[in-house]
Amino acid sequence: MRLLIMGAPGAGKGTQAVGIATHYGVPAISTGDMFRDNVKNGTPLGKQVDAIMKAGDFVPDELTEQIVADRLDQPDAQGGFLLDGFPRTMHQVDALDDYLDKHGHSLDAVISLDVDPEDLIARLLKRAELEGRADDNEETIRHRMEVYTSSTAPLLDAYKSRGLLVAVDGNGTVDEVGARIAAAVDAKVGR
Ligand code: ADP
Repeated sequence: MRLLIMGAPGAGKGTQAVGIATHYGVPAISTGDMFRDNVKNGTPLGKQVDAIMKAGDFVPDELTEQIVADRLDQPDAQGGFLLDGFPRTMHQVDALDDYLDKHGHSLDAVISLDVDPEDLIARLLKRAELEGRADDNEETIRHRMEVYTSSTAPLLDAYKSRGLLVAVDGNGTVDEVGARIAAAVDAKVGR
């Protein structure tokens, strides 16, 4: 099973990604988590992306694509994966297509997690209190929303025209939304 999960900042991608990946027995691969781990551990990559992430901007495509390719090359991702937070630009879509083509693979479904826009900011501000993520302050949140709308939301149309999009209502409890995603993906892939 090769899946993507997309959604605005605060839509709950990360939380749902873990549950869905477990459900299908594939690793959840989050670019945001990989970058945050590098920042936390002070690696050269972490030093390169720290300021970019704090500002809510995108890490450069080539760098992000390389990190994802390296991760997808790992043994645990050979039977499938759920990518969370990638692709975020058309350039990244093309890079992922090239990678999958080269390996004779293709995507099974692209989950779009849709949450009412008014709820997103409230969720992120609450997460800021609970987790203290460096990019969860009001100014950066607003910027990440704009970047999502202008750069990433258009990718949904691209996947929709390929017949891959599975749009799921992301409003509700974690369990409700998780059950909805599993049902929608099962229906899509014919399980
Ligand atoms: P959210 O969706 O809540 O903004 P993520 O954890 O997915 O959070 O991403 C956090 C940050 O990591 C992004 O704002 C960006 O700086 C960086 N990042 C994650 N994925 C990508 C990507 N595919 N391309 C570029 N930058 C990325």
